[in-house]
Amino acid sequence: MISIIVPCYNEEAALPYFLAAILEEAETLLAELGQETELVFVDDGSRDGTLDLLRTAAKENSHIRYISFSRNFGKESAMYAGLENCTGDYAVIMDADLQHPPAMLAGMFRAIAEEGYDIAAARRVSRKGEPPIRSFFARAFYKLINKISNAEFVDGASDFRMLSRPAVNALLRLREYNRFSKGIFGWIGFRTKWIPYENVERVAGETTWSFWKLFLYSLEGIVAFSITPLSIASVMGILFCATAFLWMLMIILRTLLFGDPVAGFPTLACLLLLIGGSIQLSLGIIGQYLAKTYLETKKRPIYIVGETEKDCQKAGRD
Ligand code: UDP
Ligand code: MG
Repeated sequence: MISIIVPCYNEEAALPYFLAAILEEAETLLAELGQETELVFVDDGSRDGTLDLLRTAAKENSHIRYISFSRNFGKESAMYAGLENCTGDYAVIMDADLQHPPAMLAGMFRAIAEEGYDIAAARRVSRKGEPPIRSFFARAFYKLINKISNAEFVDGASDFRMLSRPAVNALLRLREYNRFSKGIFGWIGFRTKWIPYENVERVAGETTWSFWKLFLYSLEGIVAFSITPLSIASVMGILFCATAFLWMLMIILRTLLFGDPVAGFPTLACLLLLIGGSIQLSLGIIGQYLAKTYLETKKRPIYIVGETEKDCQKAGRD
């Protein structure tokens, strides 16, 4: 059986299209590959009619299940909840806005079941329809993070991927609170087949990702998967100390040889600013890691369930 996990946050506009498309594809999968499908929707604390749509869908179709969070926990938590609660031998994560073509499912399944891969992942080959400035920063981010982290980050890799049961179980063992799935997927390893696809526009509704949000998300990825910034802070400190020491020697020699006219106030002011600034920067970097450690040590749950299709059925029976 294939479990299809769909994180949804305020997707009432796109859900009906998605449901129609995925149910049709499920029939094809059953007819051509003999695979049953299970749909696990994760309602990430939506404030619109998403949950109502899911309740109705689950009532009408026994292959449809849903988990509804008590508030918005973010897509990372939603994906974790779906993986934790799915029962299939294969699990695939898909967006609710049809940006991930359901037609690719059969190919992904074959890659795992017949070609011997553990993971089949969709990879965007073009960044068509994206603002150029965003593409530029995205490329720069991938170059940087691959240099400073030992998990593999693939440019254009989406969260649209099918995993075999062993890969799902491996993912579930990473119970960290700060989840950066692009890194987590790369970190667990396994043989991955990359299947190229063209970027598709959202079928309806709005994306929740602004440039600023993406920028903060990329910083999160760096802090979660690399400790190089901490080393940079120490190296910076060493460089400043070395420079200061050489300079001191130079001043002592100069005073001994030529006497000492009082001069150099502007130099001092600039140096103070430079050193003060770099101390602040280093403290900030340490603070980032400390904050993550703090949140991690609380061992809070990754998500909290408000209701599932089972609650809905029970209410219906009573
Ligand atoms: N999503 C979610 N929780 C959030 C934000 C988004 O579960 O807090 C879901 C959303 O419903 C969609 C998927 O994550 O199914 C991708 O979101 P979106 O389309 O907004 O992102 P984009 O495709 O622009 O990267
Ligand atoms: Mg989308």
